Amino acid sequence: MELAHSQVFAFQTQIPLMYFIVSTNAAVLAINYYDQAPTVLTVLVPFLLFVLCAYRFFAWRKSRGYKLTFAQAQATIHRTGFLAFFIGAAFIVWSLVLVPNGNTYMQMHAVFFILITTLFCLLCLMHVRRAVTILSLTVMVPFVGVMIFSGNQTLISIALNYVLVSVAVMIILSRYYYNFVDLIESKQQLQDMHDRMAIIADTDSLTKLANRRQFFARLSQSLLRGERSSQIVTIGILDLDGFKPVNDTYGHSVGDLVLIEVAMRLRNICPTAECIARLGGDEFGIILYGHYTAPELRIMGMQICLALREPYVIDNIPAKISASIGFASSAEAANTTEQLYECADYALYYAKRNTRGAPVSFSADHKIEIRQNSLIDQRLRDADLCEDISMAYQPIIDTETGKPVAFEALARWTDPDIGIIPPDVFIQVAERNGHIRKLTEMLLEKTLDDAAHWPDHLSLSFNLSAYDIATREAASRIADIVANSRIPARRIELEVAETAVMLDFDKTRETLTMLKDCGMHISLDDFGSGYSSLNYVHQLPLDRIKIDRGFIANIEHVKVSIDVVRTIVDMCRSLSLDCVIEGVETQRQVALLRDMGCRWMQGYLFAKPMAASHIPAFLREMKYGERIKLADLTLQKMSA
Ligand code: C2E
Ligand code: MG
Ligand code: MG
Repeated sequence: MELAHSQVFAFQTQIPLMYFIVSTNAAVLAINYYDQAPTVLTVLVPFLLFVLCAYRFFAWRKSRGYKLTFAQAQATIHRTGFLAFFIGAAFIVWSLVLVPNGNTYMQMHAVFFILITTLFCLLCLMHVRRAVTILSLTVMVPFVGVMIFSGNQTLISIALNYVLVSVAVMIILSRYYYNFVDLIESKQQLQDMHDRMAIIADTDSLTKLANRRQFFARLSQSLLRGERSSQIVTIGILDLDGFKPVNDTYGHSVGDLVLIEVAMRLRNICPTAECIARLGGDEFGIILYGHYTAPELRIMGMQICLALREPYVIDNIPAKISASIGFASSAEAANTTEQLYECADYALYYAKRNTRGAPVSFSADHKIEIRQNSLIDQRLRDADLCEDISMAYQPIIDTETGKPVAFEALARWTDPDIGIIPPDVFIQVAERNGHIRKLTEMLLEKTLDDAAHWPDHLSLSFNLSAYDIATREAASRIADIVANSRIPARRIELEVAETAVMLDFDKTRETLTMLKDCGMHISLDDFGSGYSSLNYVHQLPLDRIKIDRGFIANIEHVKVSIDVVRTIVDMCRSLSLDCVIEGVETQRQVALLRDMGCRWMQGYLFAKPMAASHIPAFLREMKYGERIKLADLTLQKMSA
């Protein structure tokens, strides 16, 4: 296929020159014969031949730079063979008829014209072997025939010379032609190889989707195209929830097959997408070109989330995962690849934290949040954290005795410009900008100093971030700080959120075991808010589970919440784990929970988080006063 194009490309500059030389040589010959030969041979026929050559000359000139299709290139080559015969025959017949009309010199001129012009034409046509052969034979046969029939010894010798040279030229040109074909073929092979390598370099080998490289290349192309034609480009970034446990539990081969199935489902749901890519691990990206309304995006996002939530049955192993997706469009978010990706990533991050399993589109509110987060980020870098961030303590109550058994340390930060910054907000920012370990270490030291004044029977609960338990080194730092404090390790309880544990289950289990071996207790915080997988709890070195306050807030009215809490409480009992209920705000909640057998509780009903300086007064009050008549808080007594 490439050969036909290359042939045309190679000879299209030579052919006009060939017509020019042929017609000029013919004109010179005609002028030379003008006085001796009939006008029809010296004017009319040369004129017709000249018109034919001029027509072909301009036709070729016009086609310069025009990109031929394969069929057109083939037709051109075919036509060249045909014209070689037709025009070659016309010229040879004309010259041979002209020869006898002149004197010896003029005859020599005619013979010379035939020989030299034919050789030149053969050179011009060397990329089309067929045309070379046709032209050679078209000229040679009548020329040699006429020479031999003339009976003139000299002319016969010239014919013999001509045949020899022609054959030699044909052989040389034919060799050249085959070299040319080889060259084009190897160029084609090289190009094919290059194309194949480009495809490999742009494709995810497992799912056969586009890879990260191609995703960003396509995104910048789409944005450019969208800018030119005032079209919107939207991207969706998708992350699988619960894929890691599948990989860890069933092995990588099952994990790989799940990813392949995810890719297939994505292709089915988004047939109109410009590009669907696997960006790495369990992260996927989708590019949508054109206007999609917010409800359309939401529906598409929901369809994706629902489809990916359907069970995966691989080698009879049923795997269950879900997905979160964040969208950002060039109309609202940004119009550079990096910014658009960052916005979609933020929307995904938001979806993961807040709406698990439902799509989130990047909005103006997120823009404000990002701006605020970057302000917080800046403050975190500049601020003297030790001065600006303080700790508040909220008691955990043993409802059997009505007394606090521990205080949970909760960080508090009021910035003079930004105002109160909630801990979950600045902890997230610190996690993202890499300051979290420094922050945790500083807060832990501060907390341990405060707790050094507490009575011995009170424990200290301290919240850790995912990054504090992500490596042995980070966990060792925590253990060192505790070891160097005035509080024994057995009085320390480390709280880790369920979502943090799931980031890298094996590593977390290892670091938590190490911390537990140092004598500290481990609590699983906000249980039920994340994967809610009861399967992995027994694999962790836990002492306690804290049930997420989201279930407690509506426990009085929502039956499902009661069922969930009861299931978790039963599970804790069977695994011999303590169970702490978070966010208790009403006496009725206490009654309900106590009826289920819950003993340890925490919440505004007992006390809001307080400054370290308020703890002694609180403890005195709890000791001598009767703040909460817990014994009366059972459902029976309440309804009596
Ligand atoms: P958490 O560890 O689950 O802490 C409990 C949160 O619930 C606290 O919010 C507390 O003030 C609030 N709370 C307690 N009782 C009630 C109640 O009855 N009703 C309601 N509505 N809320 C209640 P806070 O202090 O805003 O902390 C939020 C989260 O920030 C914490 O959740 C924890 O995950 C994180 N956090 C706080 N301090 C630190 C810290 O020093 N280090 C780390 N890594 N995380 C921290
Ligand atoms: Mg906590
Ligand atoms: Mg909690």
